[in-house]
Amino acid sequence: MSTVYDKYESVIGLEVHAQMKTNTKAFCRCSTNFHSSPNSNVCPVCLGYPGTLPVLNEELVDYTIRMGLATNCSIREVSIFSRKNYFYPDLTKGYQITQFDTPICYDGSLDIQLKDGSKKRIGITRIHMEEDAGKSLHDFSDNDTLIDFNRCGVPLIEIVSEPDIRSSEEAYLYLSKIRQRLVYLGINDGNLEEGSMRCDANISVRLKGSDEFGTRTEVKNLNSFKNVSDAIEAEIKRQIDIIEEGESVIYQTMTFNAKDKKTTATRSK
Ligand code: ADP
Ligand code: MG
Ligand code: ZN
Repeated sequence: MSTVYDKYESVIGLEVHAQMKTNTKAFCRCSTNFHSSPNSNVCPVCLGYPGTLPVLNEELVDYTIRMGLATNCSIREVSIFSRKNYFYPDLTKGYQITQFDTPICYDGSLDIQLKDGSKKRIGITRIHMEEDAGKSLHDFSDNDTLIDFNRCGVPLIEIVSEPDIRSSEEAYLYLSKIRQRLVYLGINDGNLEEGSMRCDANISVRLKGSDEFGTRTEVKNLNSFKNVSDAIEAEIKRQIDIIEEGESVIYQTMTFNAKDKKTTATRSK
């Protein structure tokens, strides 16, 4: 029996953040060792003291280009960094060094194999280099939040897909392929649960046959393959229910709660 949900199709684009396995940070010589004691891998550069100058880690560029070549991207010969300003306690500097309009890799693609054996091509818009922020620790005290700055400046790449994905299964297959490439190249641990890969899913729905995109939401920080699938399923259903009630989807950032399998809004964009 067909249901109201069968009238719709989903449109999904994934943003994958992957930590690069370099020995040192993106713009300074501090170690990236995950097991060091808190706040031991820090220096004036990654803490953003006034007067310091970041120096780009060549290994990060090399690793990012490897992933670009493994996903059929073009490699930009002149690629510029930008500052993205944030006001978060775990970002003492007040900005993240990232790339904006000149990502080092662009216009790539990755083929996935669907259940029926056919191939589907997922476009890759861009891969850019950026740095991680510190880590807030809320569990040590009832009244205080502690901050570990060891992760500040740890190199990440962000792999952004085109909105070519049409189901949670396709998202799963795409993400598996991305992980396979990253691990094969020796540039990432491939471990979503431990945070060396993190995924944001952009999701919208539209009536089947329509060629316009609906309004998307962005479900942030999915940290397992199962959560990626479950969050997409939950968000598709939530959006269809809203539309069927005659309301409109709002462009928002969402979080996924794995316990009750629900997505909830965190902030409007
Ligand atoms: P932002 O900074 O808002 O996250 P990005 O350009 O980094 O923007 O990422 C946008 C992501 O959203 C891409 O993966 C893109 O494919 C996807 N996307 C864009 N429009 C839609 C849409 N209507 N439905 C689903 N995904 C979309
Ligand atoms: Mg985003
Ligand atoms: Zn440093």
